[in-house]
Amino acid sequence: MTHYDPYDFANRRHIGPTVAEIGQMLEACGAESLDALVDETLPPDIRQTAPLAFGKPLTERRAIETMRATADKNRLLVSLIGQGYHGTTMPPAIQRNIFENPAWYTAYSPYQPEISQGRLEALLNFQTLVCDLTGLDVANASLLDEATAAAEAMGMARRVAASKQDAFFVDRDCLPQTIAVLRTRAAPLGWRIVVGDPFRDLDPASVFGALFQYPGVNGAIHDVSGPIAALHGAGAIAAVAADPLALTLLKPPGEMGADIAVGSMQRYGVPMGFGGPHAAYMATRDAHKRALPGRIVGVSVDAHGNRAYRLALQTREQHIRREKATSNICTSQVLLAVIASMYAVYHGPMGLKAIAQRVHRDAVRLADGLTDLGFRVEPAHFFDTITVDVGPFQGVILQSAVENGVNLRKVGEDRIGITVDERTRPDILQAVWRAFGGHDVPHDEAWPEQRLPEGLVRTSPYLTHPIFHMNRAESEMTRYMRRLSDRDLALDRAMIPLGSCTMKLNATAEMLPISWPEFSEVHPHVPMDQAAGYHELIGDLSEKLCAITGYDAISMQPNSGAQGEYAGLLAIRRYHLSRGDAHRTVCLIPSSAHGTNPASAQMCGMSVVVVGADRNGNVDVEDFRRKAELHSEKLAACMITYPSTHGVFETRVREICAITHFHGGQVYLDGANLNALVGLARPGDIGADVSHLNLHKTFCIPHGGGGPGMGPIGVKAHLIPFLPSDPRTGEEGAVSGSAYGSASILPISWSYCLMMGGKGLAQATRVAILSANYIAARLGQAYPILYAGERGRVAHECIVDLRPFQKSAGITVEDVAKRLIDSGFHPPTMSWPVAGTLMIEPTESETKGEIDRFCDAMLAIREEIRAIEEGRVDRADNPLKNAPHTVQDLVGAWERPYSREAGCFPAGSFRTDKYWPPVNRVDNAYGDRNLVCSCPPPESYEAAAE
Ligand SMILES: *Cc1c(COP(=O)(O)O)cnc(C)c1O
Repeated sequence: MTHYDPYDFANRRHIGPTVAEIGQMLEACGAESLDALVDETLPPDIRQTAPLAFGKPLTERRAIETMRATADKNRLLVSLIGQGYHGTTMPPAIQRNIFENPAWYTAYSPYQPEISQGRLEALLNFQTLVCDLTGLDVANASLLDEATAAAEAMGMARRVAASKQDAFFVDRDCLPQTIAVLRTRAAPLGWRIVVGDPFRDLDPASVFGALFQYPGVNGAIHDVSGPIAALHGAGAIAAVAADPLALTLLKPPGEMGADIAVGSMQRYGVPMGFGGPHAAYMATRDAHKRALPGRIVGVSVDAHGNRAYRLALQTREQHIRREKATSNICTSQVLLAVIASMYAVYHGPMGLKAIAQRVHRDAVRLADGLTDLGFRVEPAHFFDTITVDVGPFQGVILQSAVENGVNLRKVGEDRIGITVDERTRPDILQAVWRAFGGHDVPHDEAWPEQRLPEGLVRTSPYLTHPIFHMNRAESEMTRYMRRLSDRDLALDRAMIPLGSCTMKLNATAEMLPISWPEFSEVHPHVPMDQAAGYHELIGDLSEKLCAITGYDAISMQPNSGAQGEYAGLLAIRRYHLSRGDAHRTVCLIPSSAHGTNPASAQMCGMSVVVVGADRNGNVDVEDFRRKAELHSEKLAACMITYPSTHGVFETRVREICAITHFHGGQVYLDGANLNALVGLARPGDIGADVSHLNLHKTFCIPHGGGGPGMGPIGVKAHLIPFLPSDPRTGEEGAVSGSAYGSASILPISWSYCLMMGGKGLAQATRVAILSANYIAARLGQAYPILYAGERGRVAHECIVDLRPFQKSAGITVEDVAKRLIDSGFHPPTMSWPVAGTLMIEPTESETKGEIDRFCDAMLAIREEIRAIEEGRVDRADNPLKNAPHTVQDLVGAWERPYSREAGCFPAGSFRTDKYWPPVNRVDNAYGDRNLVCSCPPPESYEAAAE
């Protein structure tokens, strides 16, 4: 009888090629064995000596049981804490069809519009929703959280304000975590944060901008049109952080004159998740749209003049403008923005208003009941939050509330804050009354009078667009969500061979726990003992990540890779400050670096010095040495990526670290390529001081169509004191709104580590390297592979050079990328880090069959190019120039010099399961010239349908 090794079985989930296929792939690469291949690929002096000792890998069932036991250690109470986080109900139809649906959560960021029309439409709905709620003209497609969105608003205010003052005013009613992140962001840029009462302390002439909270953290609702007018008089910018549910009842910020609105869409159906992920929003006036950070979806046309969506104004972003970019935001919160937009589609304007009214009614009932009990309740006008004066009884009442199953908020030493939400029911109100010493308060069915401030009641309409008035029968809703996801190409259909953005399996067993209420419904500010499960999970995952990276501590606070870069560079800056080295501000960055690197360095007040690359694509060590010497006195850091963004393990990485340290600088190693290192080499051993890890790349958190992500940082011991601090304190040092970033998706990465075990993780790395080398070997016959290591091996990705074909056949990288869509593939990373090339990363998850299908498609494309080169096919009218082909192309006359068959069914495409892009090639320039960033009017839909 054969005994199967459960360890091997667990690995079969994540590792695509079978043992036999691994043998065939090795042969194609000309390598003796996996170990021999790795020896030829990684320089010997960086190899890790001890294997990862994570104990026995868990089977799927054991892993789920472990997650269950951990979840059960979180005690789930009703949290009426507020402070930017609210109970909400994700409609089950959205939970199953979007949140738990791989067609949505395994998609990549929508950089290739032809295969992203579904999520682009959902994001356009999101932008329309935000514009309508805030009363502003243009919104982006989400930011990371409310606190960082507020910081982005401050940065934007600085860019667009006529005032050249260096102070920013912050309403004392702002959320503490927002104030903390604003302080952190302002410090390295030399801006002063002034916290105060907008009606007493604001001196408009002394600031470049101000932020107001609406409603305030303790419930007060102020008409800030006066302060806003005063700011405008002084050439300063006004931003308002507003609750989007309150905005269904209250006058929107735009009508009060605000230039920018920010906030969190969390309470639009996205669970609190112990702090995240949620989508933040940001909107502004038309005049400032080009200064708006983050991704913006816009409307354009395709090659046939039909409506098509795509990302607009890309030229403002880091990959183009580097340190002059509008911000470092790359991964944002697409999946959560999609959920929030669907929540609005699901409820419609009247449904949203009904929810807001019910919330308000419950708050009024509570205020009246507590007043009857003899307490002084503030403020006189509120939406969902009240503050109760409890004198010396604060501790007793808070404790009694917990005993009654409810968390309330401690305010100062003698008050208690209560925030009700969509999930508040009469029994919860009863529990609160009991905590305050009341009993048997009769439930009053009568509708109490509203307590919204007279002059601030909303009169303007919102969500008038037909999409928010569709027939909301569940069959219709389900089909709408299905239709949109069918337009997109995600990992559940085909390989997404994106260089740098590791798109690997997001295993179902890893995804299950994030739906559990014990993880998803925990408020981030609950007492420690109610989040014991989270603390255990975060502790063990941190330990494992330390073992994997060779660092001494991990901070889970950064909620994207770019945020991790920012947090890491900030730690370096603070380290230098602590040693009296304030003058160390120069950051060396190779020309090949990801655009977020220079953008993050700039946010830390550093000046970027670019280091060149040598002929082989490696960091030019001599140039690096020269520049380190030149800036020796002022050297703060270098930022390197390893293996390099060129997909090569550079042999002189230790030397680069040593040079940096010799000149007093610190080494930031961008860990986005950790999928090539885990179990084989550790950044901390190579000589780096700090790195971010993209858990949404290497550690299986799905990309969500462009977020969520997690970018925790690992640091060496000397940087531990400078890690991000707790945002709740309101003090400088926090980088995002919640202590552990997007904590609720950490079970995914933890399950992955537990199910793989140390051996499995290292094996995954080896196979990832094998798969890339296999692709390089197969495609190398037809295309130049741009870079390789000293022994001819690539790391976990490879760059295919298409530049020669521009001359020989008039074919561009875009033509090849779009032609791959006809074969049913998501195109690889285009023109980065080298213009005119494709960067391909297969990952360990893809089977040999899928990799071969991709290679077949690429090789067939080479033959199509050859036909053009040899004059057999027209240079302007050929399958590449006309790609991608849609069903529309099939009907009517066909007057092309190639057959329908050749156009629509190239090598690699499936007959039965053929993916049809919903639009032809999208015209990007047209969309930027005619900028439309919200749902087009219904008439234009009719026109398009004709
Ligand atoms: C993906 C990536 C980043 C940025 O990560 P985000 O999560 O998108 O902010 C930084 N550097 C490299 C090399 C990357 O591939």
